[in-house]
Amino acid sequence: MKGSEKLRIFSCETHINQALDMFVAEQKTFPMLERLTDEEKLSTKCTYCNVASIYIVSDEK
Ligand SMILES: [Zn+2]
Repeated sequence: MKGSEKLRIFSCETHINQALDMFVAEQKTFPMLERLTDEEKLSTKCTYCNVASIYIVSDEK
């Protein structure tokens, strides 16, 4: 079964390695790492803590 939902993980500087590990464990593929825009940073919290996120880890397609 193929899920249509993409996995997207938001992460702060501290938890980026954790986010990458989690993505690889779940998707069995290496993710694309992008920096959020300033606007996105303000409205998005890290998945692992309450700090504003800096990165988004997502599928490249
Ligand atoms: Zn964090």
